[in-house]
Amino acid sequence: MRKKMISAILAAALCAGLITGCGTQASTAPASGGDGAAAQSPALGDGVLTVGTNAEFPPFEYIGDSGQPDGFDIALIKAIGEKMGTEVEIENMEFDSLVASIGSKTDCAIAGMTVTEERQKSVDFSDSYYDAVQYVLVKKDSDIDEADDLVGKVIGNQLGTTGDFLVEDIENAENRQYNKPVDAVNDLVNGRLDAVIVDQNPAKVFQEKFADDIKAIDGAQFGFEAEKYAIALPKGDAALADAVNAALKELKDDGTFDKLVSEYIEQ
Ligand code: GLN
Repeated sequence: MRKKMISAILAAALCAGLITGCGTQASTAPASGGDGAAAQSPALGDGVLTVGTNAEFPPFEYIGDSGQPDGFDIALIKAIGEKMGTEVEIENMEFDSLVASIGSKTDCAIAGMTVTEERQKSVDFSDSYYDAVQYVLVKKDSDIDEADDLVGKVIGNQLGTTGDFLVEDIENAENRQYNKPVDAVNDLVNGRLDAVIVDQNPAKVFQEKFADDIKAIDGAQFGFEAEKYAIALPKGDAALADAVNAALKELKDDGTFDKLVSEYIEQ
C-alpha cells in the first residue's frame, strides 16, 4: 500500500460521490500484472506487496547468508507474489508489531503466525499452510516432562506469541518475554530459565544448535493444542485474500509448496 494509491482511492470515492457516470474507477488502479481480482485490492494498487516478517524464527524466517530475510515463509510469499504478478518487498520487524502494522506500514504478514481468535479481531487470515504445536525446551538433565512440572517455573518465550500466551496461563509461572527467541534459548542454556516455550520447528532448530545442553519435548505431552499458520491480511480486503489463496492453491497443486517444504523444513 502506498500513499499514491490512498489518494487515488479517495479521488475515486469523491468522484463517485459527486459526479454520476464517472466511469474510470477501474483504470485508477495501476496494473499489477496480476489478474483482475488482485488489481482490485487497495493493498496491491501499486503492484507491490509489502510483507511484514520477523526473521528470528528458523526455518520459517531468519537472516540468510546474504544478510537478507530468508526461509520457508519468505520463499513461499515470493512464490505467491510471482503467481499474483506483484513485486514482493519484505519488511523485517518485531513479531509483536506485525499485526498492528498491516494496513499502515505493510500489506500483510508472514511469520509462522498462528491463527487466533484474538488476532482475527484485527486481521483476516489466508487459508492455513502449516500445522504446528508449541514445544518445551529444557536442560538435558531437567525433570520437566508434563504440565504440572511447569507450575511455578521461570519460563522464557517470544513476546506476543502463542508461547507467551500459554505461559500466562501456567500457575505461578514467571513469564520472561524476549524479542528474539534465540535470546531465551541462550538464557536457558546459561541456567537463567527453567524452560522455553516455542513453536515445534524453531524448537528443533534451537535444540540442534545447543544439542549438548538442551532437549526438546513435544507440547502435546503438556496438553498444548494444535495450531495453524496462515498469512495475516488486512481486514475486509477480500480481493487480496482471494488472490493469495488462489496463488497458494496453485503452488500446492503444481508441487512448488512441497518442494519448499523439503528444501527448508523437512530435510
Ligand atoms: N506461531 C507463534 C505465534 O503465532 C509464533 C510465531 C513467531 O514467533 N514467529 O504466535
